[in-house]
Amino acid sequence: MAFEGLSDRLQKVFSSLRGKGKLSEEDVRKVMREVRMALLEADVNFDVVKSFVKTVRERALGAEVMESLTPSQQVVKIVDEELTKLMGQEAVPLNKAPHIPTIIMMVGLQGAGKTTTAGKLANRLKKTEKARPLFIAADVYRPAAVEQLKTIGQQLDVPVYDEGTDHDPVDIVRNGLKVAAEKKNDYVIIDTAGRLEIDEQLMDELKKIQALAHPNEILFVADSMTGQVAAKVAAGFNDQLEITGVVLTKLDGDTRGGAALSIRSVTGKPIKFIGQGEKLDQLDVFHPDRMANRILG
Ligand code: GDP
Repeated sequence: MAFEGLSDRLQKVFSSLRGKGKLSEEDVRKVMREVRMALLEADVNFDVVKSFVKTVRERALGAEVMESLTPSQQVVKIVDEELTKLMGQEAVPLNKAPHIPTIIMMVGLQGAGKTTTAGKLANRLKKTEKARPLFIAADVYRPAAVEQLKTIGQQLDVPVYDEGTDHDPVDIVRNGLKVAAEKKNDYVIIDTAGRLEIDEQLMDELKKIQALAHPNEILFVADSMTGQVAAKVAAGFNDQLEITGVVLTKLDGDTRGGAALSIRSVTGKPIKFIGQGEKLDQLDVFHPDRMANRILG
């Protein structure tokens, strides 16, 4: 289960406070040392942990807790609020173009879940807005990717613009956008190539697609199982492309929390959606407060 280790650890830390009347400064410091350990073990970025612990410690040593009749509950409340803040405070909706089509570009490393998430997003837009999206298959390096997108298109009854795997992805996007204009699609979702790690050639190609398509949304798709590495890679993509949002995938797995808790702080960009399964309806809007509650159990 996602966040299981972190949840267990935090619950144990806070239960050690329960029943205590007033808290001493030493009590608070001890608890915060344990929270720090729990976050580091959940693979949260070191700097993020450091500033989080500092903020919570300062608040916990303040009057609102020390003079409270239920200090342990107050500490939990502060941790809850600060975790929520760390993850962005509020849900952030998808950017929309003033005139159709809204163009969404999916980027990320290979295997992160780009193609699947493109499908989930189209499914969601169809259901919630009766949208008429078009996919553009611009991942020409992974041979199965175009076929995978076509299969998803068939399942969802969403058209796919593709030119197989022998053409330049930039040309494919150019031609696909023409088709979308002719057919008056309201959304265009561009599936781009990924690699095993960031490389210059890939970034150049993505930049060319970006310059051509002017996407309203560049969604970085991150595999939450990769922990704080996901945040580092997201920062790398953000430096080159100015991403507009993040989708965290595989939160149905036993991810530890490092990606969810690091990525917003490291990139400054909001997590907009979370993937919670392989099926096309398993994409949810990301709510920082709900995620904090889930972590605190
Ligand atoms: P891409 O290379 O980035 O396009 O990645 P794919 O979309 O092909 O996804 C890689 C694998 O991750 C596939 O087996 C997907 O079914 C799986 N996957 C994607 N999102 C999720 C998710 O939210 N949960 C789970 N359990 N699997 C996912």
